[in-house]
Amino acid sequence: MFTKEDLMAQCPFPIGEENSGFAQYFIGKSYLAPLTTDQMGVFNVTFEPGCRNNWHIHHGGGQILICVGGRGYYQEWGCEARELHPGDVVSIMPGVKHWHGAARDSWFSHIAMSVPAENASSEWCEPVTDEEYSKLA
Ligand code: MN
Repeated sequence: MFTKEDLMAQCPFPIGEENSGFAQYFIGKSYLAPLTTDQMGVFNVTFEPGCRNNWHIHHGGGQILICVGGRGYYQEWGCEARELHPGDVVSIMPGVKHWHGAARDSWFSHIAMSVPAENASSEWCEPVTDEEYSKLA
């Protein structure tokens, strides 16, 4: 198990507060730390082991993830999941259905940047089922 203490030793960014505003779109607990929001939203998002967000789509502008701690996954609809480690970068184009989150045995943090765009929005879809998630190592 890669613990919260392991994560805090590896990752220089704050974990922040429990992400209660988006809890309805996550399985498990996540945490949100705003790093800067004046020009564009840049957040450190931390997932407890097993935590992942629902399938979702960013409309208008895409999203860029920079992995900064622990081990997690990113998956696009119809594709194999990609395992993520610190230093990995994921560029998510607008309109692509996907999810991201922690491995079952590891806390995980990524920085999330929302690409600024007119009328940007996110569409939240179905949860990643235990059946799908349990296929991941
Ligand atoms: Mn996303």
